[in-house]
Amino acid sequence: AEQYDVIIIGGGPIGLACGLNAKKSNLSYCILEKGALVNSIYNYPANMTFFSTSERLEIGGIPFVSNNPKPTRNEALEYYRRVATSSNLNIHLFEKVTEVKKNDTAFSITTNKSQYLASNIIISTGFYDIPYLLNVKGEDLDKVKHYYKDPHYYAFQKVLVVGAANSAIDAALETWRKGATVTMVIRGDKISDRVKYWVKPDIENRIAEGSIKAYFNSTIEEIREHEVDIKTPDGLVTIENDWVLSMTGYQPNLSFLKNLGIELSADEICKPTYSDESYETNIKGVYLAGVICGGMNTHRLFIENSREHAEKIITDISKKKNAQ
Ligand code: FAD
Repeated sequence: AEQYDVIIIGGGPIGLACGLNAKKSNLSYCILEKGALVNSIYNYPANMTFFSTSERLEIGGIPFVSNNPKPTRNEALEYYRRVATSSNLNIHLFEKVTEVKKNDTAFSITTNKSQYLASNIIISTGFYDIPYLLNVKGEDLDKVKHYYKDPHYYAFQKVLVVGAANSAIDAALETWRKGATVTMVIRGDKISDRVKYWVKPDIENRIAEGSIKAYFNSTIEEIREHEVDIKTPDGLVTIENDWVLSMTGYQPNLSFLKNLGIELSADEICKPTYSDESYETNIKGVYLAGVICGGMNTHRLFIENSREHAEKIITDISKKKNAQ
């Protein structure tokens, strides 16, 4: 089989940015993506608006024109699709990487469809595949969702939203505006400071006026088919309930890194070991790009401040290749 200079695992914005740079540097490359193009963004809520302005989501210097200062999910899908077609990126979709092994001279990469050889690999697998669980009784019921798509489904239903960051707030406001009765369970004592600045007053006012009931300093105790028990500072409260939207965040697949021998920090952040200059890990020839670099700290890196990883990595790989 052909041996690629580099195989890129994950076709999110940062994986695509790596592909664009590899192409520009005349490296042979292939992007392997387990789902659709920019699969994480595809799976975001249908009406989502980014917190970044469009030029900060650009990759490979290709302009992203949006009608509004903050682009929507649909505009981003349009943009990344155009980037992939206009640059004729080599990308295999719906192909999941299941194993990477290091031989003497190359990495052998196994997917659900095929096998590849590469001199280097870039892991840009993001953080959207594994939701944080509540670990409470009843979480396995079908009515508990860890991904939220569209508000219409929840019209005239009793919806409980768990969490206090952007995903939770968007879901609470959208479903309430489509006629759901919305209750929020929030572990801390306030709405997260990371909530988009133009959305925060909206949710705070809905809570203050009583349109949306919020239990602060509270957690779910148990979920049943038609009820939920909430542990509040004033004791246990039982409410009627049809759906639970658990918007408590997602975590990167760190065991994939561990299996490859990449060292993670011993604290709760589990930060992978890599060079700040080249993004090469402690395993020679294995690079990390995008939000995965942060370990469990998934809020520190996003598209606008991790696009630069691509250039640094490809510069390093090119340098090594030319030195051979
Ligand atoms: P991802 O986009 O997650 O891409 C990783 C890809 O790898 C996925 O397509 C996944 O399917 C694929 N993959 C995973 N495992 C495998 C495997 N084994 N084999 C093959 N493929 C695999 N960031 C901003 O900069 N601005 C914003 O406004 C913004 N808004 C956001 C709103 C929401 C609701 C969320 C959840 C995130 C938001 N982010 C935003 C964060 C942003 O989406 C991420 O930082 C960005 O997607 C990271 O890009 P990435 O390429 O590192 O990872």
